[in-house]
Amino acid sequence: MIRRAVLKGDRALGIGEVFLWKLYEGVAEALGGVYDELISRREVIVETLKNEEELFRGTLAKGIGELSHYLKLARRTPQAGTMPGPLAFQLYDTYGFPLEVTQELCAEAGIEVDIDGFYEALKEAQERSRAARGNATVYGGVVVRFDLSVLSGQRDNAKPTPTRFVGYDATETQATIVGACPVEGGQLAVALDQTPFYAESGGEVSDTGVIEGEGFRLEVLDLIKQDGVYVHLAEPDFDATGLTQEALNQKLFRQAVTARVDAPRRRRITRNHTATHLLHAALRQVLGKHVTQAGSLVAPDHLRFDFTHSKGMTPDELAEVERLVNERVLEARPVQVHSDVPIAEAKKRGAMALFGEKYGDTVRMIEVPGFSLELCGGCHVRNTAEIGLFKVLHESSAASGVRRIEAVTGEGAYEWVRQMESTLYEASSKLKAQAAELPSAIERLQEQLRDERKRLERLRSQASSASTENVVDVEGIELAVESLTDADMQETTLVADRLAEGNPRRVAVVAGTSNGKVMLVAKVGEEARSRGAHAGNLVRDLAKIVGGGGGGRPDFATAGGKDPSRVNEALSIAEAVLRKQVQ
Ligand SMILES: [Zn+2]
Repeated sequence: MIRRAVLKGDRALGIGEVFLWKLYEGVAEALGGVYDELISRREVIVETLKNEEELFRGTLAKGIGELSHYLKLARRTPQAGTMPGPLAFQLYDTYGFPLEVTQELCAEAGIEVDIDGFYEALKEAQERSRAARGNATVYGGVVVRFDLSVLSGQRDNAKPTPTRFVGYDATETQATIVGACPVEGGQLAVALDQTPFYAESGGEVSDTGVIEGEGFRLEVLDLIKQDGVYVHLAEPDFDATGLTQEALNQKLFRQAVTARVDAPRRRRITRNHTATHLLHAALRQVLGKHVTQAGSLVAPDHLRFDFTHSKGMTPDELAEVERLVNERVLEARPVQVHSDVPIAEAKKRGAMALFGEKYGDTVRMIEVPGFSLELCGGCHVRNTAEIGLFKVLHESSAASGVRRIEAVTGEGAYEWVRQMESTLYEASSKLKAQAAELPSAIERLQEQLRDERKRLERLRSQASSASTENVVDVEGIELAVESLTDADMQETTLVADRLAEGNPRRVAVVAGTSNGKVMLVAKVGEEARSRGAHAGNLVRDLAKIVGGGGGGRPDFATAGGKDPSRVNEALSIAEAVLRKQVQ
């Protein structure tokens, strides 16, 4: 509907800008009394309208060009004047054009759309994807096929009855295997009469652990809840691939077992789960009541919480949310579980429910008194203090109008602190500065880098401008002389290199001055050397004039001096000295 409205506005009314959200006030006024979410979720609605329209206008801009191509194709088909169904489907499938939109656009061009053909193509595509998925449940990238009647393993072929979940209060229980069947990859699907294993739901991941019986041990890697039956996907300690269903039944069916959840892992999960409730409440307090949960992941090592909010959070908002959560943690508030609460009562108390989630007549509520009240079927700590420390790692965009926070608690937060500490330690030992002094040490380093870059820049321009202008012929030898200001030994040497480069008859003499010091560099080409030119002797004579000394090899030599005012005088005798050497 949004898309059609945008299309009408754009093409029929010629509104070239994002406009639909402006109609909100009128609609809210007319219908707000009937649909109270129209008022309470104002910000979300307006933001969504804006985003949807922007997205669709993008699609439209991209697709319109394609459409004209498709219209040409349609005119060329046997039933000219009709857009074939498969083409309309392709527009839908590839460019996101809903059928109605294609119809409108085609109508403008006097072309009809083969609607039956469209639905046929759609149905075909759906069947193709269903065939690709089959009735399988995908587990860890492996396609796992089983249906519960197979799992029952009973002669009467009845499905196992729903499993009694005892995991809220215990992580270990005695149980009986009521069904088992092999699944691909040598694993087993196992059902128990009762289990402490939580099966992934509401963002909280499944428990792991072991099921142990007389003479066997099954490592539980994951769970799937199907029609109330908790299906444990487990790795057996015996080779199950060779077993027939009958042999398997003999081994496992009706066996008494101990089902034991990996309790430390579960504790990490509960810390993260209760923390998401605190986070949810804190976000609403800091950002506003428009914030609602849009998704979550509660894993042992971290938590992820998606929520409706139109823009990125500022560092201050994020810090405030983190502070609020940690405050509740440090207050050691009890976490209260209310089971079998009539839904009407939960609503009256203002418990937060998931938008679009189906709830039964009675619900389970998790309450942190005075702070958070949510409908939830997950596993929680008994007291907020168990969370230990709550630390936000990232805040980012998850989708349009939806933000995402990733955070850690307990062991995860401790690991994070340790990691940060070791990173800081590494940085301070590299920069030879205390952790607290790192920012200023880095500033200094950046400054140095800037200076170095400037120097390099200057050096490059000096080197490239070191021309052959100052070259004189001395008995067939080329003497190049250059004087540099504010140049150190490295720069002076580089310029000398450049002047002598690739010319065996060349003698380069370069003087550089900086901070009241003089540097002299001489470089002599091979041919010049064979004629008697000597770099070491040359710079020694020059250095005397600037009050210094030095010398070196015949092909390359450096010298220093202390009187920059006499540099030109020193350079001026280079020609005479060289003449004497080569005569
Ligand atoms: Zn929850």
